[in-house]
Amino acid sequence: MAREEARLSKAEKHAEGPGEQRFKSSERRVLARTKQQAIRRVSPRDSRRRVFPRPRTGPRHRIRPAPSPVAPAPYASARRPRTAARYVPSGPVKPVPAQNVSQVEPGKMAGMPRSRNVPPPPSSRALAPVHRRIVECTRCPRLRTYCQTIAREKRAAFRDEIYWGRPVPGFGDPRARVLVVGLAPAAHGANRTGRNFTGDGAGGSGDFLMAAMHAAGFANQPTSRAPGDGLELIDAFIAAAVRCAPPANKPATREIANCHPHLVAELAALPRVRVIVALGRVAFDACWRLAAGRGVAPRPKPRFGHGLAYRSDGFPAVIAAYHPSRQNTNTGKLTPRMLREAFAMARGMI
Ligand code: SF4
Repeated sequence: MAREEARLSKAEKHAEGPGEQRFKSSERRVLARTKQQAIRRVSPRDSRRRVFPRPRTGPRHRIRPAPSPVAPAPYASARRPRTAARYVPSGPVKPVPAQNVSQVEPGKMAGMPRSRNVPPPPSSRALAPVHRRIVECTRCPRLRTYCQTIAREKRAAFRDEIYWGRPVPGFGDPRARVLVVGLAPAAHGANRTGRNFTGDGAGGSGDFLMAAMHAAGFANQPTSRAPGDGLELIDAFIAAAVRCAPPANKPATREIANCHPHLVAELAALPRVRVIVALGRVAFDACWRLAAGRGVAPRPKPRFGHGLAYRSDGFPAVIAAYHPSRQNTNTGKLTPRMLREAFAMARGMI
């Protein structure tokens, strides 16, 4: 028994001899290298659970996933450029069609739910000061009080919206050759949205007008629902005889006269206008007051009637049309075809 134990002890000593010791040492080095490579291959998250010693963490020792054979090399696009990128314009800057919302507080667009507020587009250089004066105007205390009251009390359907509640400037193409003149903002339409003929509801006066303008190529879409709906007027601009919503849609004679300078200033800022489409009698009369301001006073006084057109030297041609109010459109006094024909006539006269 003692001899057997001595033999086993000798065999163990032989196994742990100098040669075996050398083999184990080199194996440890290979193992250490393998561990280091394995650490480099694991993701940073997995490395937190590693059992290997923490690798050095300099820029040269950062752990990165191994590149995939099909995917592009990771971090390649995220690498910061050595120099800041320069802005190089790709072409001439196009003029942006003036929108009537340039005076809305930045980040807040009237007529839109709060969650969809977007920055307003800029107005043209000539129109911007005109629009600023319109928005700040307080000449008619009755109308200002009425607009603010409507904006505060709101209609139940729009209680989550921010009403514009201020005078409404015109909107459209600053290079327009056709000027459309309406009556005044609607209490829960333009007084809410800040854009003429906008927000009157589906099939309202805005949609009725825009369908006719779209058919004649003056609008890029046949509806006008809200600021930011993508509507753009092409070669056309929409203004109004009165810029504040009047009670019962009936402005007083004095209020129409008060507001007329705004229309004069807007027309002056639109030097290419050749045709004016007057929607309704109030707008028609405002047009001839504009003409009188330029020394054009036809005799006898032009008669208002849908589809009548008047040319005169020194002033744009005037086309009379019924106003697309629900009162006119629901009763059939004004049909879509009648308004389409009026704008087709305008197209033929520019
Ligand atoms: S209706 Fe015209 S003139 Fe009167 S307060 Fe409004 S913007 Fe001014």
